[in-house]
Amino acid sequence: MNKLIPDNEMESRKVTENYEKYVVPSYGRSGIVFVRGKGSYLWDSDGKKYLDFFPGWAVSGIGHCNPNVVDAICRQSEILIHIANNHYHPWQGMLAKKLSDISFGGKVFFCNSGAEANEAAIKLARLYGSKTGRHGIISMENSFHGRTLATVTMTGQPKYSKPFAPLPAGFSHVPFNDFDALRKKVDGNTAAVIIEPIQGEGGINVPDRDYLQQVSSLCRDKDMLLIFDEVQTGFGRTGRFFAYQHFGITPDIMTLAKTLGGGFPVGAMVARKDIADLMIPGTHASTFGGSPLACQACLAVIDTIEKERLLHNVRIMGEYLASKLSWLKQKHPFIRAVKGIGLMLAIEIEGEGSGIVRECTGKGLLINCTHGNILRIMPAITTDKTEIDAAVKILDECLSLYPPTRKTTGCARGDSTGKS
Ligand SMILES: *Cc1c(COP(=O)(O)O)cnc(C)c1O
Repeated sequence: MNKLIPDNEMESRKVTENYEKYVVPSYGRSGIVFVRGKGSYLWDSDGKKYLDFFPGWAVSGIGHCNPNVVDAICRQSEILIHIANNHYHPWQGMLAKKLSDISFGGKVFFCNSGAEANEAAIKLARLYGSKTGRHGIISMENSFHGRTLATVTMTGQPKYSKPFAPLPAGFSHVPFNDFDALRKKVDGNTAAVIIEPIQGEGGINVPDRDYLQQVSSLCRDKDMLLIFDEVQTGFGRTGRFFAYQHFGITPDIMTLAKTLGGGFPVGAMVARKDIADLMIPGTHASTFGGSPLACQACLAVIDTIEKERLLHNVRIMGEYLASKLSWLKQKHPFIRAVKGIGLMLAIEIEGEGSGIVRECTGKGLLINCTHGNILRIMPAITTDKTEIDAAVKILDECLSLYPPTRKTTGCARGDSTGKS
């Protein structure tokens, strides 16, 4: 197994003991100790193999330890790992150009997580709004934008933000996919609207096509910035590089993370050029952002998506998986709906889903439950029919075993086991 740690430290009892004693207990945990990953598979400390259909909340979106990412990280780590942002290095500009080319031609700010990318977007929106005395940002109920104080305030789920009051001012929320509610909320103070083009943590909610188009026109009419949080939807998850490309519109700002680094911690904000240029020296920074090592990992991810035609794979496998899930829906009457696009899929059930997730985990399949009754299924975009068949077989067995109870409690974020 992993030669970097002595055998006795791999023992699962020792591992969990260290966590209990020394790690801040802010996560619900499955109890499993993972020690190795490859593609869609993970292995635990007992050597048990798991099919991972929710790889790191979409971080390992092109599979665990993708060989191209491993190779890029290994090679770059021998050449140059970090260079401070008061200098140049070749790879940051290359990556920015690439991100610009595959999206809407903007400029890029690099950071290290989704929340930081959204923080950058908030600050840029405030810079933009300050020209006309506006600072308000409207986001959606049930959204998820991160855990820093500003992004958790922007996140439209008070259970995440309330304990941390007083919260930053200038944020308000409206129901998702309800254009009238948004139109009424906009006032002379609104500088920007932020939306996940498909809500992830909120339960894989796909909006109506004309909703996003109406939001886009409203933003243009009122000179407000349209920000898309594509942290979860980006990099092929939906069958296009970015989810906005399904809707015939372009955001002014887009935030990225998760799959972008193939497992390496990165975040990025892409902004329309004229807006991006408001961030003059001194306005924003990240010490680690856009390091040579991070950029090489990202370049390898994008290169892999292009060379291995993974967008095409997502469309084919997405349809295949969705059809299998529809078959499960016919078989198990407590499945209310199959939701999603591409390989960003979910089944909505009647009752509580955490028991099913736990049962699947026991049988070697990792999926996620959000909002109590939405089973999120988001395999690596490199997946194939064999893996999908194996996953659906396990899911079918677990659904048969577990007609869920009626009551819907919520399963907390960070907990795919229902233990918290
Ligand atoms: C995960 C997620 C974030 C937060 O990303 P972190 O890297 O955890 O800060 C923000 N927005 C969306 C849509 C996400 O799914």
